[in-house]
Amino acid sequence: MALKYSRQRQAVWDFIKDREDHPTASVVYEGVRESYPNISLGTVYRNLMLLKEMGRISSVDIGDNAVHFDSNITQHEHFLCRKCGALRDLNTYDMPAAGLHLKAAGFSGRVESYSIIYSGICENCLKKEEEEN
Ligand SMILES: [Zn+2]
Ligand SMILES: [Zn+2]
Repeated sequence: MALKYSRQRQAVWDFIKDREDHPTASVVYEGVRESYPNISLGTVYRNLMLLKEMGRISSVDIGDNAVHFDSNITQHEHFLCRKCGALRDLNTYDMPAAGLHLKAAGFSGRVESYSIIYSGICENCLKKEEEEN
């Protein structure tokens, strides 16, 4: 299926491709709207989902009922700060290690993906806490 060239999709892609903060569709919408005032939130959302289907972006579910889009399409973990809500990438795990880990725990199937979200307090918030004390 050939995809029709879309300037709007290009604008959405340009906005998200270098972002590391896992923006929701609303954040992308606010950003893209600066250059495309007539774009709708629905259009932005559809284009994000399309980019995801195309394998150019991924998404993270942190249980807040919003899809957080991710320009990093390699397998990685996330850290969610419960104070400021920052969601950032971590790269401490890898597929072979995950497989060995599960083998050691008695699992003999094949691991194809994983989703890990650590939560706690980020460096910035910790620093602020220390300054306040
Ligand atoms: Zn924080
Ligand atoms: Zn990520």
